[in-house]
Amino acid sequence: MPIISSTVMLQKAREHHYAVAAFNVHTLEMLQAVVDAATEMESPLIIQSTVGTVRHLGAKYLVEAATVAANQSSIPIALHLDHCTEFNLIIECIRAGYTSVMIDASMHPYEDNVAITSKVMEIANAAGVNVEAELGKVGGVEDDIVVDEQDALLADPEECLQFVKQTGVLTLAPAIGTAHGIYKGDPHIDFERIEKIAALVDIPLVLHGGSGIPAEQVKRAVALGMSKMNVATELRIAFSDAIKQIFDENPSENDPRKYMIPAKEAVKQLAMQKIGLCGSAGKAGVLQ
Ligand SMILES: [Zn+2]
Repeated sequence: MPIISSTVMLQKAREHHYAVAAFNVHTLEMLQAVVDAATEMESPLIIQSTVGTVRHLGAKYLVEAATVAANQSSIPIALHLDHCTEFNLIIECIRAGYTSVMIDASMHPYEDNVAITSKVMEIANAAGVNVEAELGKVGGVEDDIVVDEQDALLADPEECLQFVKQTGVLTLAPAIGTAHGIYKGDPHIDFERIEKIAALVDIPLVLHGGSGIPAEQVKRAVALGMSKMNVATELRIAFSDAIKQIFDENPSENDPRKYMIPAKEAVKQLAMQKIGLCGSAGKAGVLQ
């Protein structure tokens, strides 16, 4: 099947208490690896790219690669643009064929976040594309968006409800204590806050900063209503470490297949672990 919107995929996840893993990919091999992982586990999948990766590879290349993967696979696959602050780039990605986009206007005052998100909603709705928006601020570094730990701000549950009503957004990323990158200690996830938000807002919620969250904490967050988990940093590390190991052993290696194949396998194994934590194995057919 072609790549599909993430809207129904995530609504089903929320309804059935699992999460869909959303993996940030930077190369064709990483894309193939996460597709192989999800296919083997019969799980729905969201392939994500950051703004930086869209600039690096091009939106059309990413859409074509994801489309080939989706057409060859039996699982539902969506292609999502992660953390975008630029209206024009969102339009470019929707035009290229992205089926899901994140407008991150969380750095603006609340009313501006509502206005910017609503503007994106209007266009995306017409194109049948899902929109994810963010409330509060997730700490850490994501591409060129840097949020100091002290500036990270948790989302207010009542404000989440108001925001969803005002914007009509169908997927929400509330900041609940996770951070981008790798945690120095354990993350301080505010589970009570997740519970309160999930009780007020019935749309799928997104867990950002899914790299390095202890397994039990991921499961708890998913059980409370997190329906999408973003994983970026950990995949990059697995991919790069596998390549480094090949060059440590053979510094003169010059056949990309010799280091890309193990790197792809490392990403696949990690993606399978994350899909396991999300509880989405065997849920590929839930959409049909
Ligand atoms: Zn994020």
